[in-house]
Amino acid sequence: VKSEGRNSYQFFKPSIQRSAINRLSLESAMRKAIERDEFVLHYQPQVHTHTGEVLGMEALIRWHHPEKGMMPPFHFIPVAEETGLIAPIGEWVVHEACRQTKAWQNSGEAGLTGLKVAVNLSARQFSDRELIAKIRRALDSVGLNANALEMEITESIIMNDINSTIKQLELLSEMGLDLAIDDFGTGYSSLSYLKRFPINKLKIDKSFIDNVTNSNDDAKIVAAIIGLSHNLNLNVICEGVEDSDQHNWLKTHNCNQIQGYYFSKPLPADEFESYIRNKNRS
Ligand code: C2E
Ligand code: CA
Ligand code: CA
Ligand code: CA
Repeated sequence: VKSEGRNSYQFFKPSIQRSAINRLSLESAMRKAIERDEFVLHYQPQVHTHTGEVLGMEALIRWHHPEKGMMPPFHFIPVAEETGLIAPIGEWVVHEACRQTKAWQNSGEAGLTGLKVAVNLSARQFSDRELIAKIRRALDSVGLNANALEMEITESIIMNDINSTIKQLELLSEMGLDLAIDDFGTGYSSLSYLKRFPINKLKIDKSFIDNVTNSNDDAKIVAAIIGLSHNLNLNVICEGVEDSDQHNWLKTHNCNQIQGYYFSKPLPADEFESYIRNKNRS
């Protein structure tokens, strides 16, 4: 209606303008952040449930903002994804994760040489035709073998367009990478497709682990996903493990790997090294 149209200008202007300006300034700040090398990766250990051995780590991005301090990914990854800036940022993440993992291999230090690094892939990155070439470039530039790299792709990305998903997953798998489905249980995976995907690992979402020791429903779901993984010969990891009760429950139910604050928060590279050294000493 016309009269509404006229009023809507005044009604909408302030909030729309504000958010557009916020987004714009965030976008230009992110462009500069790449040039100024303000992004850092933190690493969270992925632990063998029964032995406690650290098998690898998930690389998680942070933005060391000159004024705002350390910014967590939910502040900027969604805007990076919308604006397309996730492409250069994601390329940086893959390269930096590979570089660090190779440096730990080269250190020759016990506990640091055999680690596998897991990197998160966004929807845009996953559908990028150049993805394979970009990963190849990152691996080659630091001399890292593909079998030390794992890609985490969320369930919702994977179920988006099945035919192109299968092609892309096959290309990644042929490179020798490991593939993990992230946030498993929160999307709508068709179990029949799961068998056709060349994947290695299911990562059960934290929301199920939160109540695994006090909700019968969540316990049944987690037990079922662990059973499914074993039947399909997939590795299974739980994220968001925060206490020893959850750890013990997952031990009893034969989950292969766990990740969570109970072992460690995501750590800067030097603190991750100290974590490994302390663990080896005790
Ligand atoms: P995600 O892939 O599901 O990562 C797990 C998140 O849970 C991380 O948050 C991690 O710090 C947190 N977490 C791990 N263990 C625990 C726990 O025991 N308790 C609690 N409360 N939280 C735990 P973070 O680092 O803030 O990352 C949030 C999300 O941002 C990630 O969720 C991922 O979707 C995205 N993200 C992070 N780094 C990257 C990246 O390099 N590229 C892309 N595309 N996305 C990224
Ligand atoms: Ca992840
Ligand atoms: Ca996750
Ligand atoms: Ca999650």
